[in-house]
This record gives sequence, C-alpha cells and structure tokens, in this order.
Amino acid sequence: MADFAIIGAGLAGISLAHKLKLAGHTCSVFEKSRGLGGRLATRRLDAWQADHGAQYFTATSPAFSSEVGRWLDKGWIKPWTVTPWLLTREHLGPSPDQQERFVGIPNMNAMVHGLAAGTQLYMKTRIDRLEADGDQWRLWDEHGEHYGNYDAVILTAPMAQSQALLPTEVINAAMIGSQTMTPTWAMALAFEQPTGIEADVVFVKDGIVSWAARDTAKPGRPQNYETWVLHFSPQWSANHLDASPDLLQQQVLEVLERLAKAALPNIYQSFSHRWLYARAASSEPVHQWHSASGIGLAGDWTQGNRIEDAWTSANSLAAILLKAYA
Ligand SMILES: Cc1cc2nc3c(=O)[nH]c(=O)nc-3n(C[C@H](O)[C@H](O)[C@H](O)COP(=O)(O)OP(=O)(O)OC[C@H]3O[C@@H](n4cnc5c(N)ncnc54)[C@H](O)[C@@H]3O)c2cc1C
Repeated sequence: MADFAIIGAGLAGISLAHKLKLAGHTCSVFEKSRGLGGRLATRRLDAWQADHGAQYFTATSPAFSSEVGRWLDKGWIKPWTVTPWLLTREHLGPSPDQQERFVGIPNMNAMVHGLAAGTQLYMKTRIDRLEADGDQWRLWDEHGEHYGNYDAVILTAPMAQSQALLPTEVINAAMIGSQTMTPTWAMALAFEQPTGIEADVVFVKDGIVSWAARDTAKPGRPQNYETWVLHFSPQWSANHLDASPDLLQQQVLEVLERLAKAALPNIYQSFSHRWLYARAASSEPVHQWHSASGIGLAGDWTQGNRIEDAWTSANSLAAILLKAYA
C-alpha cells in the first residue's frame, strides 16, 4: 500500500483521495485555504450566502453521470431546474436549452465535504516546495514546516500554481506549457426587497458582465434576501485585475437595472471576489502521471475547464495509480 500526498482540496484532490483510500492506500491532503472545495465556493454572511465560484454543473459522460447519481442519493446535490435567458445589446429573452443542471446543497462544496469524510486533511497549509529524498518526497510549507515522506505527490492546484512546484523534467514530460487560465471577477449582492427581475439565470453576450443569476432561485438556499451573483467576462477581468468594489458594483447595477426594467431596491450587503485562475482558456493534453519521479497531476485544467473535468481528471489518474501501486 502506498502513502500519497495530494496538494489541493478541491473536487479533484478530494475525489482522488476518496478513491485511493477506498483501495486501502493512505492519503494526506494539503490545502492552503480554510475550507474545502476550492472554486466550488459559497460565502456565508450574517443572514445570507452566495455561490461566488462555480454556479452549477452538468454531467455528460456515463462515468460522471453515475457518480452524480450517487451524490443525488446521498442528498449532497439537487437538480436546479431553470430556464436560462440571453441578454445581448439588442435582445433580452428566454433561451431554453435541454441541459440538466445540478447544485450542491446547501453549498456548492457539499459533495466535496461528503467525499472528504475520514481523509487526513492539513488545512491552511500552503505547500511551497517538494524535496526528493531517495525515491520518496518530502513537502515543505510556507512556514518552513515539513511533512512526509510520501511515495507519490499529486498536484491538483490550478496550472500556474502546480507548475510552480514541479521539477522541470516533470513539466516537460507532462507537456505543460501552452495552457492558460483566465481570471474572473465575481460580485454578489443581497437586496432588501424583491427586484422584480423575471429571469433567474441570464447569459450575457458581448458585455462586460457574462453571467447573472438569482442565487436564491437555487434549491436549498436561505431566502432572507434576494441574492444575485454576477461574473465579469474573462477579457474584462484580465484588463481590470485591480478593479475597485465601486467600479464592479456600478457595472453590475447597470446590468441588473436593464434586467429589472425599473429602479432596483436598496442593497443590503455585497461582496466581490477575484478568481485569478478561474477557468482554463484552452485544453491541451496533459500526461497526468510521471512514474519515474512519482508525481501526478489532476485538476480541471488537465482535461478542460468544468466541474465534470475536475472529477474526470481524478478518476482517470486514480485508475493509473491503482495499477501502478497494486
Ligand atoms: C467564477 C467561476 C465560475 C465557474 N462556473 C462553473 C460552472 O458554472 N460550471 C462548471 O462546471 N464549472 C465552473 N467553474 C469551474 C469549476 O469551479 C472548476 O472546474 C472546479 O471547481 C475545479 O476543481 P479542481 O479541484 O480542479 O480545482 P480547485 O477547485 O481550484 O482546487 C484546487 C485547490 O488547490 C489549492 N491550492 C492551490 N495551491 C496550493 C498550494 N500551494 N498548497 C496547498 N493548496 C493549494 C487551492 O486553494 C484549491 O482549493 C467556475 C469557476 C469559477 C472560478
């Protein structure tokens, strides 16, 4: 049985730990933040909450669909039945599609919490350096503490953060290099009264903002205040990495006023969040396992840029590791 270190407690890292643990291996997961889930993020404030990262997910492959069925049975997620609208410069109206959408209950990271049960977690532990010790690895955190030794290290952080930790020979062998990840500004607002906006979900084309959704239209959310989450386009976010909360709010209110076709009620509270590595802009093939060094890679960017890709990356690497360490 092998001893694995996994960097990152998002869906990819925790799904992988879950699978390796079921097969009898030992896994330690290191996470720089306070909470589990990574970009599956919900912020709770005093009387309201908002999903400021991933908004929902879909399942296309048979393997992920069957995993989603398990999560539904556990009560970790629910379908989010919603008719999307489309907003362009000239047009606003429903744009129905056949997609089946799901959300975590009551937070986006609910399934990550469920899968993490019984896993050895090191939270608020940012790994800064990997050190080879014979054919094993030792991990060093930002405070100079070390952990290990481990038989293999799996990195699941977004590309740039994983790349910073990898030895050059692994970067070359894994074929990392041309992938890029784009930023996204998110803003969430709670209104004191209903806004009167007809749509629950709006895809915005050709605009500064790319997405607007009534968070309180999702199942299992507190209903104290009508809450909206808006995401800015990757291009605008990249050009305004230091945007002030005032500028973000001004842009967001313009969009919501267009949707409401009327003045908006008072804002109770709001917050903004910058995702520096929100989504992979392109997906290039990545070799996930470098057997000579005992280093593996998972995470959405190794396959695509969605929640399903994060899970699929963990699933495919788990199959390789379970063979390598049978
Ligand atoms: C604004 C936004 C909207 C999105 N909307 C959707 C959507 O609607 N549908 C969809 O399918 N997907 C969406 N996504 C993408 C989705 O969130 C991701 O595909 C998925 O959550 C990635 O999971 P992951 O485990 O690969 O990475 P992450 O969730 O990023 O997990 C990686 C973890 O590694 C940790 N970490 C990084 N460096 C270190 C270090 N040195 N030491 C320790 N820990 C470290 C991070 O803190 C993080 O918790 C969205 C993403 C964003 C940001």
